[in-house]
Amino acid sequence: MRAHSIVACAAFLTVLAHVASCQATSSDAATQIGKEWAPGSRPGRDLEKSDGKIDSPTIIRYLQRLENKLASAISAPPAEVRLTRSSDLYVSVPADRVLYISGGLLQRIENEAELAGLLAHELAHAQAERAAALEGQGNGTMREGCVLQSKPAPAGNENAREHELQATVAAIGYLKAAGYDPAGVLDLFSKLAYEHPVWAKAIVPEDLLALRVKTEAEAIPPGGYRIESSEFVEAHAMLATLLSRSR
Ligand SMILES: [Zn+2]
Repeated sequence: MRAHSIVACAAFLTVLAHVASCQATSSDAATQIGKEWAPGSRPGRDLEKSDGKIDSPTIIRYLQRLENKLASAISAPPAEVRLTRSSDLYVSVPADRVLYISGGLLQRIENEAELAGLLAHELAHAQAERAAALEGQGNGTMREGCVLQSKPAPAGNENAREHELQATVAAIGYLKAAGYDPAGVLDLFSKLAYEHPVWAKAIVPEDLLALRVKTEAEAIPPGGYRIESSEFVEAHAMLATLLSRSR
């Protein structure tokens, strides 16, 4: 059982202050763009070709089980989850219901609730895109996707904050439906926003903090939420070994 502490909130406010100072330095942001978005906005299969893939059956099967569990909790079609060998942090541009995650991003994730949070957030983007397509708003060529892509969506970022917020709000609901601690998505995205000021323009720390306050005020189910698992620990350790070999 997890009690969200005042200490965590204090730490988060420190993070906010740091993000604000980082955003004030445009050269920092430019460096981040160059570093994180260098691979370009390419579909997953291109990323797999350029960055290599990790095809460890243990890791892939584990990721897919978690994806299937989340999708099934909300009666949505799951994506096929694949993993690239890149140490950069990204998810792929959505294409053909296949989601590529970089090894670097998976390595940055610290427990199963955070991993479920990332998958739930990406599932929410996919669901939003599907709903837009059904309503005739999408023609298949305009994909919003997630700002964690290797490059920002071509449409620009004016709606990015709203899309990211909606995806995270939806992810919180998916996590609860699947029995995961909803703080998982907030913990991961706070960390990513803190470390990568460019992303913090769309994944805004104030938005995450407001969601955290709201989530923490809600009752926790009697059995508690799932946060960690031995499968996650095993997959994470295997990933570290595989990535260190490829360097
Ligand atoms: Zn997103």
